[in-house]
Amino acid sequence: MTQKIRILPEVLCNQISAGEVVERPASVIKELLENSLDAGADEIRVEIEKGGKRLIRVSDNGCGMSQDDAFLALERHATSKINTSEDLFALHSFGFRGEALPSIAAVSRLTLQTREEEQVEGWSIYVEGGTVRRAEAAGLSRGTCIEVRDLFFNTPARRKFLRRDDTETSHIADVVSKLALAHPGVHMRLQNQGRTILEAYRHDTLEARIAAVLGRSLLKDLQAISHEGGDGLTLHGFIGSPDCTRSTTGHMYSYVNGRYIRDRVIQHAILDGYRNLLLKGRYPVVVLFLEIDPALVDVNVHPTKHEVRFRDQSLVHDFVSQAVRSSLRPAEWLQVDRPAAEEPASIPSIVSVTDKTATPQVPDVQELPLATHHRERIQESLETYAGRSFQSTSLPVYHASPDRACPSEAQNSSEPGGFFGSLQILGQYHNSYIICQDGDDLVLIDQHAAHERIGFEKLKEQWRSGAVERQQLLFPAVFEVDFREKDSLQQHLQDLLKFGFEIEPFGGNSFALQGVPALLKDVDGVELLRDVAAELGQHSASHLIEDAVDRLLILMACHGMVRANQALTRPEMLALLRELDLVDFKTHCPHGRPVMKRLVLAEIEKMFKRT
Ligand code: ADP
Ligand code: MG
Repeated sequence: MTQKIRILPEVLCNQISAGEVVERPASVIKELLENSLDAGADEIRVEIEKGGKRLIRVSDNGCGMSQDDAFLALERHATSKINTSEDLFALHSFGFRGEALPSIAAVSRLTLQTREEEQVEGWSIYVEGGTVRRAEAAGLSRGTCIEVRDLFFNTPARRKFLRRDDTETSHIADVVSKLALAHPGVHMRLQNQGRTILEAYRHDTLEARIAAVLGRSLLKDLQAISHEGGDGLTLHGFIGSPDCTRSTTGHMYSYVNGRYIRDRVIQHAILDGYRNLLLKGRYPVVVLFLEIDPALVDVNVHPTKHEVRFRDQSLVHDFVSQAVRSSLRPAEWLQVDRPAAEEPASIPSIVSVTDKTATPQVPDVQELPLATHHRERIQESLETYAGRSFQSTSLPVYHASPDRACPSEAQNSSEPGGFFGSLQILGQYHNSYIICQDGDDLVLIDQHAAHERIGFEKLKEQWRSGAVERQQLLFPAVFEVDFREKDSLQQHLQDLLKFGFEIEPFGGNSFALQGVPALLKDVDGVELLRDVAAELGQHSASHLIEDAVDRLLILMACHGMVRANQALTRPEMLALLRELDLVDFKTHCPHGRPVMKRLVLAEIEKMFKRT
């Protein structure tokens, strides 16, 4: 009998775990940077050559290692960061697996140089393919420098998977950026072939760090957020305006307890926060830090620790999505939606972003210098657009149910001096755009997009409070359907009622439409109903998830709203703008198209060569 099973040699084990931990040069840099951060460094320098394939060098001014530790660090499962299994759920460091250094050393030519502050000299150890070749005392500055040459030199199969130098370089820059964003206080520099491609000095604030890493021009589109939930959950950071989007999720930077993660729950939650605000296939820019009790999250689910597992996924999901959504609701960036040319040289403080003192107060209708009959018309159209009566002095708040809206927002919206209502209307262009002035700026409003958002938010509000308001038709409209539609209609009679449609079977393949959504009473009810029924047919009747409800309401809003190419009187325009102030998410139509664009005076002057 022959023995077939054997324990693998250490070097082979390390190569195997390198397969998980070290995918490409960028993953080496991630591990080395995290080690430097764990070592308390506040200055870290990364140098690379040939996309990191020929050389990676990470030097830090952290705590360094003693001679013994330096050798131990290269052994598998050797770590200074945890002791017991309890420590695994109370992690305060990036590392804990004790795998990175031996794995990297197994597939490269690695030199580790390190000196502790209190030692006169440091140690330099050279390892080739996992075997220590040389070790000697050396005069070094405090901290650690790890040099990784010829990555995968002894595993040619893996080397073949590496991409072109510049692709690998951009992966590296991405990793450095992600860590740099989470550590504003650490000076980080990335050099490619001797040229600095990213430099972030020590910063006091996250926004200064964002400016350094992602570009200053981005700041104008960002809004600071800070939320606290139950169970010690907090979320802070910056979220981008729905206008500032990317074609991939690459600019959604999310961190859990300071660790960059690519978690589907978090990502979904953020996108859920942006629901109905983004164009299809577009993703927001966010830099968000979730802090959570380490006991409620398991980091040890993936060797690269890019994924985590939350003990209560839906708790985290709902907290993040509500936090994002409630920050987007009041559309803080409206007043600072200015092109980059306007940007002051210094980093604008976020305080000024949310500063509303500059907004002119909207005049009360009663106080407008208008003839009485004009005033009445405005009042009238205000009421028409609102779909219900209200006094201009106490505008109703079309708000999400109270649990969704935080009090400060409710306050915002009930202020008469809303942003849109305060604009000075100059006229209408192409029967589609309202031209306004805001201070020195020219503001264009897409009337269709504006109206769609208003209709959608109102329908949604009515839907939330039980059912969409219905208006009975004087003369029921009888219409015929084919057998498939008939089936779907019959199945969804109750659902349709909730959406404001009252229909009754009228014999054979006919139905009678008796009532329509009050807000949409002027549209072709039968055509709308057919569309809604078709959409409903795609969902199981009882489980209309919010997403499907939204799609239906968008469809309805789309049918009912002011089309492009409709002449509006001045009072109608004013009414539309004031109404816009009353709804949530007013900057974009529910398809994600912008409602407003701003042209600053300086830009216009430039057009006319006046600068
Ligand atoms: P882990 O980070 O999971 O502990 P590593 O293999 O990455 O495992 O590192 C092993 C050990 O080496 C660390 O626990 C730490 O004590 C030490 N070490 C690694 N890099 C540094 C560094 N830059 N500065 C100081 N100590 C370091
Ligand atoms: Mg480590």
